[in-house]
Amino acid sequence: MKFGGTSVGTARAMQQAISIVAREEERGTPLVVLSACSGITNKLVQIADAAGRSALDEAMTLAGEVRSFHLNLLDELIKEGELKAELATTIEGLANRLEMLIKGVDIVGELTERSKDMFCSFGELLSTTVFAAAMKELGHNVAWVDVRSIMITDDNFGFARPLDEICEVNVRKMITPLLAAGTSVVTQGYIGATKDGRTTTLGRGGSDFSAALLGAWLDDNSIQIWTDVDGVMTCDPRLVPEARSIRVMTFSEAAELAYLGAKVLHPDTIAPAVQKNIPVYVLNSLHPDAKGTIITNDPERLSGMSYEGLVKSIAVKKSQCIINVRSNRMMGRHGFMNELFDLFARYGISVEMISTSEVSVSLTVDDKSFNNELIQDLKTLGEVEIEHNVATISVVGDNLRMSRGVAGRIFSALKGVNLRMISQGASEINVGFVVEEHEVATAVNNLHKEFFSAPQDHTIFETPAGKQ
Ligand code: ADP
Ligand code: ASP
Ligand code: MG
Repeated sequence: MKFGGTSVGTARAMQQAISIVAREEERGTPLVVLSACSGITNKLVQIADAAGRSALDEAMTLAGEVRSFHLNLLDELIKEGELKAELATTIEGLANRLEMLIKGVDIVGELTERSKDMFCSFGELLSTTVFAAAMKELGHNVAWVDVRSIMITDDNFGFARPLDEICEVNVRKMITPLLAAGTSVVTQGYIGATKDGRTTTLGRGGSDFSAALLGAWLDDNSIQIWTDVDGVMTCDPRLVPEARSIRVMTFSEAAELAYLGAKVLHPDTIAPAVQKNIPVYVLNSLHPDAKGTIITNDPERLSGMSYEGLVKSIAVKKSQCIINVRSNRMMGRHGFMNELFDLFARYGISVEMISTSEVSVSLTVDDKSFNNELIQDLKTLGEVEIEHNVATISVVGDNLRMSRGVAGRIFSALKGVNLRMISQGASEINVGFVVEEHEVATAVNNLHKEFFSAPQDHTIFETPAGKQ
């Protein structure tokens, strides 16, 4: 069971999450994976940046806020006594280490990826510490486990990947026996450690991925992602207020959607579940009785809810940048694409969407990875044009593969929107295009109306519980 930042972001949210865990404990002993409390990882990133620029006062003030936030949670959740005193010492200890780290980075005068991961790890260490104590306070049989002794990763700080075989053995050695003895386990998402004990992170939003990995190593019978919306929806409800909850999706639909920008799931969450064929449930900790979404390839579950429609969901990725390379050298020659992509590979920049013609290639990259040196190198291949502040929008659905007329419906829904790029592969389950960022809201609301406003298939789509 993974609970995201909002689901553990206040004392009340933690109590609610614990009551959800308690329900599960009646059926079996769960492994609980937590994110940092909402906003804390962002604050830790700010602290790291401030320390790296030797803005010591700023960093220490923010660290003070992190300390008092967690001490306040403690006050609200745990009554005076031995447990509270013990826990306060643990929180103070972690906060002191955070401050020592700030001073260390300030003295060295440089923030490395390695120390940044160290900073970011405090959020999950603190949230799990408070949560496990609150469970104990309520009489649960629970163990707090430092996931850094289990989630052993490579040393790609900021985007570490687990060393599967070692981790699986660790899970069997350290978690399985606790669960078998009826002790619920609370541990951290998002963080891990290298073989020699250096703290790493799996990338922002990585707690979903941690939960899926741990669920797969445990050979568990379900992976539950508890978040702040009623499952995976037809679009981000922050963009489209009419978005509906999707009852069932295939693994490929969910993975595609996550890769194409739906923040509700970290893009790597699905792969471990597919490998062991474990259903992933996406559920709302604010409305625990809402049905949420089941992600599965189980034909029985899918057949009860077969979906004849085309589009299951719409995903948006903002802060993208179009790079257009135009060269006559492409005409009838070979090797040009190779040279082009070789440059992106050399700079370690991931290309998101591509569209080509005989004389030009357009592609998108995340604006954060934009690199001027790469652009200089690209200019040796041809004329280069750049467009910032664009967003990719993708419509996703397994049924798109065999259907006619989808493109026509998309384009008529987008009349009046300036389409900067379009991309669809031959066997793809998505159609993607790029618009200027200020047109995203119009574009997605129009598309949503086009594909989801007709009489709905209620076995698949549901009005979110908060709106009923
Ligand atoms: P958590 O902290 O629980 O991991 P996130 O903020 O990472 O939560 O992800 C949940 C958010 O994802 C939702 O609040 C919603 O705004 C956003 N989101 C984007 N696309 C979708 C979608 N298709 N379905 C549901 N939520 C989405
Ligand atoms: N706390 C981390 C983040 O904010 C990981 C997560 O929430 O999944 O990115
Ligand atoms: Mg998330």
